[in-house]
Amino acid sequence: MEVGPPTPMLDDLSRPYWDGARNGKLVVQRCAACGRFINWPRPACRFCLSDVLTFEEMSGRGTLYSYTITRQAFHPWFVDRVPYVVATIELEEQKGLMLVANLVECDDTGIRVGMPVEVVFVDVGPELTLPSFRPVAAGGVK
Ligand code: ZN
Repeated sequence: MEVGPPTPMLDDLSRPYWDGARNGKLVVQRCAACGRFINWPRPACRFCLSDVLTFEEMSGRGTLYSYTITRQAFHPWFVDRVPYVVATIELEEQKGLMLVANLVECDDTGIRVGMPVEVVFVDVGPELTLPSFRPVAAGGVK
């Protein structure tokens, strides 16, 4: 029997991110008071403590900050999917704005910290889309 992927627990703070992904948008929380982006979402701005927070669509561009190659499945759904790359991406909108996602469309030997990446949306189930990142091909910057 096919086991489905583990799915996120949706609440008011996480739902905009996952709904955005299903609609092909990378959405990150932003503070309306100081203008800074915040990830992961939280009830108050971690910079100025304002609770006036919105969600905004991002460009989807960033750079690879760090990564690890996962070779061991922690859940039955991943057994046929290892190895895969889990990456920390620094989004271009703000220095230090990090997002953890899969790195896809990239051979293990081609991974370089600091390389430019762009978001792609990977459907893994009828109700789950994962924002993932792929290298921006040389000369392929939009
Ligand atoms: Zn703020």
